[in-house]
Amino acid sequence: MGAGADVLWQQDPEIADILDGEARRQADSLQLIAAENFTSLAVLAVLGSSLANKYAEGYPGARHHGGCEYVDAAERIAVDRATALFGAEHANVQPHSGSSAVLAAYAALLRPGDTVLAMGLDHGGHLTHGSPANFSGRWFDFVPYGVDAETGLIDYEQLAALARHHRPKAIVCGSISYPRHPDYALFRAVADEVGAYLIADAAHPIGLVAGGAAPNPVPYADVVCATTHKVLRGPRGGMLLCTAELAERVDRAVFPFTQGGAQMHTIAAKAVALGEASTPAFTAYAHRVVEHARVLAAALSAEGFALTTGGTDTHLITADPSPLGVEGRTARARLAAAGIVLDTCALPHGDGRGIRLGTAAVTTQGMGTPEMARIAALFTAALREEPEEAARVRAEVRKLTRSFPPYGR
Ligand SMILES: *Cc1c(COP(=O)(O)O)cnc(C)c1O
Repeated sequence: MGAGADVLWQQDPEIADILDGEARRQADSLQLIAAENFTSLAVLAVLGSSLANKYAEGYPGARHHGGCEYVDAAERIAVDRATALFGAEHANVQPHSGSSAVLAAYAALLRPGDTVLAMGLDHGGHLTHGSPANFSGRWFDFVPYGVDAETGLIDYEQLAALARHHRPKAIVCGSISYPRHPDYALFRAVADEVGAYLIADAAHPIGLVAGGAAPNPVPYADVVCATTHKVLRGPRGGMLLCTAELAERVDRAVFPFTQGGAQMHTIAAKAVALGEASTPAFTAYAHRVVEHARVLAAALSAEGFALTTGGTDTHLITADPSPLGVEGRTARARLAAAGIVLDTCALPHGDGRGIRLGTAAVTTQGMGTPEMARIAALFTAALREEPEEAARVRAEVRKLTRSFPPYGR
């Protein structure tokens, strides 16, 4: 738990006990939440360092606070690593989260009341893509596009028709649950035809992009929004990539428009994660993540789950469990009782909810294709409504996770 663990136990055993319990929960159960991963110990070390004490409003070389020489160096390295890794002209590594990155992208390009085309929330759009409960839906006029009822793939004809009809100021490309690669060139062509900005919200696939296991949106999008904590395996946070032309607008949209002081411990941890993501080992990891998702998806399909789009090209799998006689929420609860942790998701054109899972975390732990087949079998067993079965699956999950401790102990 790091060097501070003993001090915390001495001072605040109530919280220390919670940290201990969470570490055990992560190690003892199967982490299949598609947006989660295990960071390296190096990333964790930076997060718990003296950089957490530092105030640094502004940008390197132009701060509103003194004493920024070390954190300036860290932020410059993070920016340089991000631009090099993704081939971007400019990077902003300050957004506190994926949502903050999207907010800043909108602030850079749009005015309240502007029309924006984005994937509908019931088809896999994120809250920041026009939910009435989110600033996006309150301040902009969102028009939803969706996926085809037959194939589950993005309906590009509908997208183009909606763009021609509504003439949006921006088109958002990205989803929380779409398991295929978006056709960025097609999105760009539609945006160009109607004079719209293209914003790629690549929060999920950016880690695969880093490892060359998914197409890069940077050459196509005006602004790319990303998270650093999903497949990319860094600290919780956001990131923006854009053209040199938009650099100043994007930077001002982050600070001072939507954020205050940058979180320098997180930014330095982003630099470490981006360094890790630039290695051949990470390239191999990203490709393994996708291979594992393909194998797990095929095994789940063989067990009777109805896969959205029939499979996956990414780390992400979405499926309708109803052929096995359960709805998504029930499936999530029964799987959780057996130590298998995942999310539910919207089922475009379907009834009830589906399940959404990903292979980023279990792949970081070192699991391989044989484990994916075992996991699929555990799914079906856990969904049977028999208490003894849940206990048996729980024991199997323990056995499996014990062989792949996330931090090697
Ligand atoms: C995860 C995600 C976000 C938000 O990231 P947070 O860090 O949770 O704010 C935004 N858009 C998409 C598509 C995402 O998958």
